[in-house]
This record gives sequence, C-alpha cells and structure tokens, in this order.
Amino acid sequence: MACQNYIGGEWHDSTSGETIPSRNPAVPSEVVGEVPVSTVDDATAAVDAAAAAREAWAETPGPERGAILRETGRLLAERRDAIAETLVLEEGKTWSESTGEVQRAIDIFHYYAAKAADIGGTVKSSSSRATTLSVRTEPIGIVSAITPWNYPLGIPAWKVAPALATGNVVTLKPAENAAVTATALVECLDDAGLPDGVLNLVTGPGDTVGEALTTDDRVDAVSFTGSESVGDIVYRNAAPDQKRVQLEMGGKNPTVVTPDADLDAAVDIVGSGAFGVTGQACTACSRAVVHEAVYDEFLERIVEYAESLSLGPGMDDPDMGPQNSDSELSSTLEYIAVGRDEGAVLETGGRRAEDAGDGYFVEPTVFADVDPAMRIAQEEIFGPVLSVIPVSSYEEAVAVANGVEQGLSASIVTQNLREAHRFVDDIDAGVAKVNEKTTGLELHVPFGGMKASSSETYREQGDAALDFYTLSKTVYLNY
Ligand code: ADP
Repeated sequence: MACQNYIGGEWHDSTSGETIPSRNPAVPSEVVGEVPVSTVDDATAAVDAAAAAREAWAETPGPERGAILRETGRLLAERRDAIAETLVLEEGKTWSESTGEVQRAIDIFHYYAAKAADIGGTVKSSSSRATTLSVRTEPIGIVSAITPWNYPLGIPAWKVAPALATGNVVTLKPAENAAVTATALVECLDDAGLPDGVLNLVTGPGDTVGEALTTDDRVDAVSFTGSESVGDIVYRNAAPDQKRVQLEMGGKNPTVVTPDADLDAAVDIVGSGAFGVTGQACTACSRAVVHEAVYDEFLERIVEYAESLSLGPGMDDPDMGPQNSDSELSSTLEYIAVGRDEGAVLETGGRRAEDAGDGYFVEPTVFADVDPAMRIAQEEIFGPVLSVIPVSSYEEAVAVANGVEQGLSASIVTQNLREAHRFVDDIDAGVAKVNEKTTGLELHVPFGGMKASSSETYREQGDAALDFYTLSKTVYLNY
C-alpha cells in the first residue's frame, strides 16, 4: 500500500517525493506500506489547513460532531478484520491483541461521540444580584498529536477522538513504522464525513515533521506519547510560547507478590503483564518484586509460564509475536547481555528465537536474583524480559517498587486487605492495581504516570482528556 498525507481533506504525496517502507516485523522482507517522508513544508501545510477549519468546527454543535465520531466507530467496526490484519502485519502483535486494539478504538470513538453531546459547563450562584455566573468550556484550538508505534491504532484514537469531540482541529503525526495503521483510522474519519482540514495526517521523521508540529506558533496544544528523551525535547520546544503539553513516556512497572498471594493468580498476572504484547507496552510489568516466603515457588512457576508460550507471526495467533524492529530486538538482546554481566541469574530465554522465523523474535526471558540497583531493574527494556527481585518485607517491597525514576503502573498480588490498601497509598504510580496486571486500562478513567513517566500536567482518557483539550471561560452576565 502506498500511503499519503491527508491535508485539508485531500490525500497528497509528500513534497519530498520520498517514501520509506514500513515492514512486517515477523517477515522483515515483506513491505506493508510505503510511507511518505514528509517535510517541514508538509507539516506547515497541515497546520494551515487546520487553522482554516478551526472556526467552523468549533461552532459545529457538539451532537453533530458526535455523530461523525459515532460513524467513525461504525466504520472501524465494519473494517475490523482488515484493520486488525494491517496492525498485525505492521506492528507485529498477535491477532487476538490486534482485534482487541481495534475494538478499543471502536469503543473510544463511541465513548467520545456520546461525550461530544454532553459538553457544557456549570452555573454558579453569584455574589451580586441579577448576575448569572457560569463557566463554560471552549476548544483549546489547534492540536498536534505525536504518537509511537506500539499501539498504532489505540493511541491515535485516544488522542484524536476527545480532541475532535471537544471541537479542536488536529494534526496527527504517527511513528513512521506505524503509519499504515494510522492511515486506516484517518480513512474512517474521512469516510465518516469529517469536514476538510479538521484532522490532518502527516507522516515522517520526528526531528523535522514532529518538531515543526511542536514549534509552530499557531499550535495551541501538543499531546505526545513516546520515549523520555523525545518527550523532553517536545516539552522544551513547546515551552517558548507556552503551549499546553501532555507527555506519556516510559515505565519500569513492578508487580509485588506477597506471602498471602494466590500464586496461580500471581503467575498469570506477572506473566501476562510481562510477556503480553511482547513486553512492548509502557505499562508492561518488567519487575516482579517477590517476598522470600514464596520466592522459590513463584520463580519455578513463572519460568514454566515463560517456557510454555508459543511464538510466531501474529496472524497465526501465537501467545507472543515478534519485537517491532531490528533495533528493538537488538536493544533487548543488549539488555540481556547487560543482565548477565551484572550477575543476574538467567533462568530461561535470553536468545533470539530463531525457530519462530526470520523476524525479530526473542525468547520470553526471566532473570532471577536481580539486585534492584542493576540496570535491568532500573531501565526500561521494552521487550519480554522480566526481572525477579527477592525481598524480605512489605516495606522493602515498596521501597524497591518505588526505587526507579518512572512511576506509570504498579500492582500488588495479595489477599491481605491491609497490604492492599497500604500499597495503594504508598506506591508512586499513576495507575495502582490490586490483583491485576500492570497492563490493561479502561478507557473512561484517567491514564498517566508520576515522576519521569508523564508530564505533571494532564492525564489522558476519560473526562481527563476533555480537560486537556478545552479551555474554560467564566461568564458574568448581569441582567
Ligand atoms: P518510540 O521509542 O516509542 O519510537 P519516540 O520517542 O522515538 O518513541 O517517538 C515517538 C514519536 O515522536 C514518533 O512519532 C517520533 O517520530 C516522534 N518524534 C521523534 N523525535 C521528535 C522530535 N524531536 N519532535 C517531535 N516529535 C518527535
């Protein structure tokens, strides 16, 4: 498939005329689509188109905007299998994971379709007589959404849907190796009747196209998901004219296993959190912090779990697909070498999984006796590598769980009510779970992290997203 930019309601090649192949990580010789290598001029044209569409879209009644989002949801459902296949082939996820992600996008569009009709504000009593005092919300204006490859449909959906619902105009810049899937979403919005210029798509390199979309002084808000290093650049680039910014970045998410844990549940929770989506989720579990009373048994069983997983191309719907790219695979293998050098015990995995095919497959890997200070226990790996860390008390478990720079998602497996409550109080994470895996989010509650995982500005999803994409206007009406 030859992808194009979508600017002002029309599909265009990039002004550079160049494209880059997006490849199937399970069969790297297979090209899934050619993606335009866009230029700063293309990004500027997208913001021009957004600026031209801004007023009319803001004035469009909420229920009318909602109807277009609802139709987008319907089209996503109608095209579910085709889009899921694109997602499998481009990102590498399994069929089950991909159909789940398409369903999530459908649900997100329906959720914000309903919200679009519900936008308003509040009326307060005033200190002066004959004054109506009210607070209403207005769209923030022109939005740039910059997204990574790991949820190539879900993340664009959860940024674009609330932005459009609240009356904003948007330019979406997906990662280059996720752009074919993002294009399928934009096609649904186009076919749903979204007016020209309200949503624009520009693919291409982050340091040119992404940077232009964060520095253009007409852009009012930037929503970014990606790495910490790029998030830092985005924040600085958006600062000079004080754009509203939301950053979602990395995690080093722990699951604490206590002496009271149901070990069957613990193994499932840690295993699915660590190896689901090939460990390529910012909320993936990468550290099991396990009390010494259950350490040996837990370790034996989590190793069994890892060894039971089937690997293969996502369309065969194995338990685990490949890593997304050669560089992701290399980075995981490097971390595995680091873990060995640091003296962690490699219990299982650790190698490229040649049997699964020519793609970027890596064995589900478990390190035991990991010291919390080791790099494999401190740095985000973004692959199916679990560090099991022994602890001897609840207090030590919490200190280890909190002893990293990030604070995105964290969980505890326990049947002890007191420990469950204490954990929720004590953990420095934006998402705290009891007896659940660190991955898996509901769409109608806020999502975001603490510490280095997110900017301490706004959350995503649920009503929190509506706050990010709106400004409030306080009205004093003296009659
Ligand atoms: P990942 O490691 O998940 O690929 P990145 O942080 O590298 O995450 O990329 C996330 C998104 O940010 C991608 O769409 C990428 O093109 C974009 N990006 C990269 N560099 C910049 C930049 N300097 N300014 C804006 N966006 C950028």
